[in-house]
Amino acid sequence: MPLNVAIIGSGLCGLATAISLRRQGHYVTLYERYDFSGEVGSNISCASNGTRFLEQWGVDIQRARPVILKDMVRHDWSTGEITSKYPFGDYKGKFGTHYYSFHRVDIHSELKRTATTQEGQGPPAKLLLNHKAIDIDAETGWVKFENGLEITANLVIAADGIRSTLRAAIGVETHATPSTSCCYRCIVPIDTLKQLGLTEFVTREAIEYWGGMGIEKIVMSPAAGGNMICCYCFYPSSYNDLCEDGWNFSATPEQLVETFKTIDPTVKKLFGQAEDIKMWRLYDHKPYSYWVKGKVALAGDSAHPMMPDQSQGAVSAFEDAAALGLLLSEMNLLSLSVEEALKRYEALRKPRATMLQAASLRARLDLTERIGWSSANNKPGKLTIEDVAGYKMEKDIATRWPDLTVNVIGRA
Ligand SMILES: Cc1cc2nc3c(=O)[nH]c(=O)nc-3n(C[C@H](O)[C@H](O)[C@H](O)COP(=O)(O)OP(=O)(O)OC[C@H]3O[C@@H](n4cnc5c(N)ncnc54)[C@H](O)[C@@H]3O)c2cc1C
Repeated sequence: MPLNVAIIGSGLCGLATAISLRRQGHYVTLYERYDFSGEVGSNISCASNGTRFLEQWGVDIQRARPVILKDMVRHDWSTGEITSKYPFGDYKGKFGTHYYSFHRVDIHSELKRTATTQEGQGPPAKLLLNHKAIDIDAETGWVKFENGLEITANLVIAADGIRSTLRAAIGVETHATPSTSCCYRCIVPIDTLKQLGLTEFVTREAIEYWGGMGIEKIVMSPAAGGNMICCYCFYPSSYNDLCEDGWNFSATPEQLVETFKTIDPTVKKLFGQAEDIKMWRLYDHKPYSYWVKGKVALAGDSAHPMMPDQSQGAVSAFEDAAALGLLLSEMNLLSLSVEEALKRYEALRKPRATMLQAASLRARLDLTERIGWSSANNKPGKLTIEDVAGYKMEKDIATRWPDLTVNVIGRA
């Protein structure tokens, strides 16, 4: 103690882990292959099982311009008529924080600020852009970068996303099959909504669905303090045979409208004015056989990529970050080596993340499996909002390992 920590990747997981570990007094350096100049994104719905850690770490939620989500709403596919509602009710009272919708760029910026600012607990994390990791040695914590830099750390967190290269470098085999679903994501700014007379999609403060029983589904939520709506639009991958990966395949409003010929005319009107439209190919990743080797741990999408249909990918990454902070606290490192703490991290996190991966896959084609909507569905094995949003990690750790200290999350 303190540890020199290298975090590879500065997405939502890498930044959250940097905050969690700096607060335990560790010296953290983040290595990111890009410079964020082309950062885009849609909204990220953040359930309380993730946001309660953000609050505990002193992340200024208001600076990230949240919208507090009040309800889930289902619409008839072709008429748009509201067919059902799931009110979140007293979500904060039940689970401790609101259910937030952020624009990804806003929450990413606020996490970056919290990780690297001089203020707050623990030494500020350093962020090195344009550092692409290309090789790693798990036993020694050695990492090599494309620009020639070589470093050795006491702990390496591979938060390098769904197409992680470090995952393969520590010997984990990936079994991924292309999904039958593809997704467009787009935004519509508030000024356009005002011109179209459709501001209700912001003022309702809801996650709104069309379809969802089968591949086709539209998911719409407000973000950026109500300055836009963000849409995820799922369609059969056979439709345009997109076979490359990435967010950077732009599409036009005409393509969007053409893909969803039978959708509610109001949604078509919105699609006609949509901006920043990108196509996304989805993959079904089977759970990996292990997440940890020596001094290296996978975290976030590199450990447990999941379908987006439970809105739990980023939230699970925040849980990973919290678990790493709790297990690698000063107190726990008096009795555990880094390697032992990482084994406990995998034992704690892998079963829960695997359960969420499976539930997200089920919800891909069946909206009644989506947490919240699942409350009205009595299928055995369904996941409930209580299972997910009500999870108490500290209690879980204390029950599994009475020898560990779990009350130190590093408050300012
Ligand atoms: C359509 C869709 C909708 C979603 N909606 C939600 C939602 O509502 N709620 C939710 O919780 N989640 C949602 N998710 C999931 C969420 O976006 C991801 O789970 C989350 O962003 C993963 O964060 P990450 O940091 O693990 O990975 P990433 O965000 O992919 O970050 C990885 C970082 O590592 C960097 N990197 C990669 N390789 C290297 C390298 N070799 N060296 C250095 N740096 C490297 C990358 O440039 C990147 O910055 C959604 C996902 C999709 C596809």
